[in-house]
Order: sequence, then structure tokens, then C-alpha cells
Amino acid sequence: MRILHVAAEIFPLVKTGGLADIIAALPNAQAQRGSDVRVLLPGFRGIMAGVTDLVPVAQIGPVFGAATAQLLTGCLPGSELTAYVIDAPFLYDREGNPYVGPDRRDWKDNHRRFGLLGWAAAHIAFGELDAEWQPDIVHAHDWHAGLASAYIRQHPSLKTPTVFTVHNLAFRGIFPMECYGELGLSTEFLTPSGLEFYGSFSFMKAGLVYSDKITTVSPTYAKEIQTPEFGCGLDGVLTERADDLSGILNGVDYDIWTPQDTKIAHTYTANNQNGKKLCKRALQRDFGLQRDGDSPLFAVVSRLAGQKGMDLIIDALPELLDGGGQLVVLGTGEAEIEARFFHASQAYPGRVAVRIGYDEALSHHIMAGADLLLVPSRFEPCGLTQLYALRYGTLPVVHRVGGLSDTVVDTTRETIASARATGFVFDRPDKAALGSRIRDACALYRNDKVGWRKIRRRAMLQDFSWNDSAAHYEVLYRNLL
Ligand code: ADP
Repeated sequence: MRILHVAAEIFPLVKTGGLADIIAALPNAQAQRGSDVRVLLPGFRGIMAGVTDLVPVAQIGPVFGAATAQLLTGCLPGSELTAYVIDAPFLYDREGNPYVGPDRRDWKDNHRRFGLLGWAAAHIAFGELDAEWQPDIVHAHDWHAGLASAYIRQHPSLKTPTVFTVHNLAFRGIFPMECYGELGLSTEFLTPSGLEFYGSFSFMKAGLVYSDKITTVSPTYAKEIQTPEFGCGLDGVLTERADDLSGILNGVDYDIWTPQDTKIAHTYTANNQNGKKLCKRALQRDFGLQRDGDSPLFAVVSRLAGQKGMDLIIDALPELLDGGGQLVVLGTGEAEIEARFFHASQAYPGRVAVRIGYDEALSHHIMAGADLLLVPSRFEPCGLTQLYALRYGTLPVVHRVGGLSDTVVDTTRETIASARATGFVFDRPDKAALGSRIRDACALYRNDKVGWRKIRRRAMLQDFSWNDSAAHYEVLYRNLL
């Protein structure tokens, strides 16, 4: 099976969140299962610098406002996989983040930048850009790639099957109508049952309407997004397409996220957890926290955004501190949340430490050194950090929502007795519910060291590797073919 993934991020070249980890891992898992997999990416600086052996495969010419564009192929680092890269410096050769400029505002020409991504996917599917390779399936990810299915649908005879995966419905890729004319798409699509969205148009909606199958990254989120509460105004479309919508849980690349990683302070395993104590000590030292082995050390590694419930953590800080806990935060995002965390670190030196920024290596140290990871998201399509935390024996404290509720088993009398508990789950995204679970976690940590070790061991033994998820996608593709 020849599969073309279409995405805007790939770890380690361009990453703003979980999407990058998935685009790095899923194609490899599929290739290991025997598929012929390629990935199409925009030629952002990180991509141009990181994809090796780039050679031109087609001249595209002037397109989407760029005087010239070409399609390159190269090799993804650390794998044998081929990447297609759209080389259009006018659109992609820019400082920083793929979606927003240094002023944190969306790039004004995002419709062209990501329109070209979908367009190129379709033209690869039509066999017009690479005579030697045509996909059997086009698998597009998130709004950035949403137009791929519309361009494919527009072809008079070629009907390459398309799968569209929603990694986060909240980012819908909405643009004013004036932009539509620049995309070369039929005006027939511009209806409420097409990609029109309340007087504007949405790339995400295009993916939802014109793809043959829709997936999202956990079974619970697949249900949630069909409701007004989580549907971001697209629940109607999703309900209509319910028969074609499914949830396939993301996996983890356990070669990258492992407590046997020699880059963390000390390696450890589920059966010999001693190294974790040393990782905690190192983390406390590096962050200037009191070197207290008995304090439960809570961590945050996250975008600092309302979606992630970060404000709730600051609100519930008194409970955490009353329980004898410490907090380490690594994140970047909304200015107000950054400021509140910063002030907390000033108010509680030695107990709360905050690093504003994005730091891949540090995120691994934190996963290894902390006792608990806080993920109180208001909504969470899948969530990767709780899966990473589990592997490091860092018990996740999560809101019962989306992928969080599919992957963490709450610690209760019953789940302890049935040997299933792996973390702490609370039911409402508010300060009281989070605070109460934080208190419970602190009490268990202090009062039942043996019980804690058992839960930690079980957490570490959870298996969310990619093979299962890749097998699910394979079934979906085969049904389409
Ligand atoms: P989302 O994609 O919604 O941000 P996920 O949990 O799916 O959330 O994935 C987040 C990814 O980004 C994880 O790999 C996590 O480790 C990483 N991450 C988030 N914030 C930071 C940060 N400040 N520094 C390093 N890695 C981060």
C-alpha cells in the first residue's frame, strides 16, 4: 500500500505540539508493517535544513503568490522514509513558528501557505508531480492539510481515497471569503454543506466534508466532537458523518520516550526504580527546589493555554503546597498564564520553579524526575504527555476528558484492588476537583510508599506503542481500497 501523509510538522525538524511526534512515528510504524509510506511537508526552514539529500522532482512554477515553487524529495532523518518537500521560499522561508509570526499573530497568507500544501498533495496523487510514485491513499492531518481532500474531490476522474485526521478541532483554519478566489477551488464547494463556515470558509471543514474517512486521535474525543460542547461549531458536520468517523488512539515512540535513555540523569526500569529517585534529585537541584525526597514533585510540560487548564493549576496551587508538594513547570504560551506561573515561582522559591520556553531535552528530564504530571485539560484530543509520563512512572493527574480518559485509570479502592490504577482522574475542570485529587495524590505518596511503587510499576508497564494504532489505520485504508 502506498500512503502519502500530508502534514505541517514533523519531529525533530518542526514541532509545536503532539502532531509533530505523530508524523514522525506513524509513517515509520506503517513502513515497518510493510507499507510504502511518504510524507509531504512545507519547506519551512527546519524542514529544508533537516531533510537530507534533497533533489528536485518537479518544477511547479508560479503558484499561490510565490514567483516560483518546486517539489523536492529527500530522506527523513533517522529513517529510510522519503519526504516530499515543497520548496517555496516566498511562502515558507521565515523565522520561527510555522503558523504565526514573531508578533504571535497568524501569518496573513496562511491560506496560500497551507493551500499549496493541499494542492501539492492532490497533484502528487494525480501523478502530475512525480511520474514514479503515486499514492493509493492520501492521509491528511489537521486543518493545515484539510484542502488536500477538496482538491482531490475536484478532479474529474481520479478518485484517490482520502483519510483526514483531526488532531485538534479547535484550530479550524478559518479565512475570509476574499481569500477563496486565490485557491483555485471550485465555487461549488462554497456552500454551508461544503467548506463555508458562517460567512467565511474553513480548511478543517473541507477535510471533514470531502475526505472519505475521518479519524481523530482517541475514541472518546471521536464521540465528544459530535456534541455542541466540544464540536467547535462543527459538531453538525461530524454527526452527519458519524458513520465515517472513528477514533484511533495515538501511540508513543518508546525508542525516544524511555527511562532507559542515557541522556536523563539516571536510567531505571519498572522493576528497578532506584534511578528515578536520582532523576528527581537532579531535577530538584537543576530547578533550585528544596532537595526533599518526601515531597511529591508535580510537573507540567505543556503549551500554557486555556485548553490545557493551566489556570486551574495556579488556582489549585494552595492544595498542592498544603500537601507538601513541589511544582516544576516547563511551557510557553499565553502571556497571562506565563506571568501567573512566574509570579508563583517568585512567591514560593524552592517549592515552585518555572521555565518559560520550549526545550525538548528538558522535557525528558522532567518526565523522568517528577513524581506526578498535571494534565488538567478542558478538552484533550489524545494527549501525549500523559502517555510519556506513564512510561517514566510519573503518575498523571488528568481531567476525565478525551484521550486522557482513554489512557489513565484512576486510583480508587477498587482499581487498587484489581491492580489497574495508573494515575489520578478528576471529573470537572475546576479548581476544587483538581485540588481535591492533588490532595489525594499527596496523601498516597506520603503514606503508602509500597502502594505508590506498585502503581508506578504498572504505569511504566502500560503499552501504547504504535503497532496497534498502525494496524487500525491499515484496516481503515484497506476498507477504502
Ligand atoms: P498538544 O499537541 O495539544 O500541545 P500533546 O500532549 O499532544 O499536546 O503534545 C505535546 C507535545 O509537545 C509533547 O511531545 C510535549 O512533550 C511537547 N511539549 C509541550 N510543551 C513543551 C515545552 N515547553 N518544551 C518541550 N516540549 C514541549
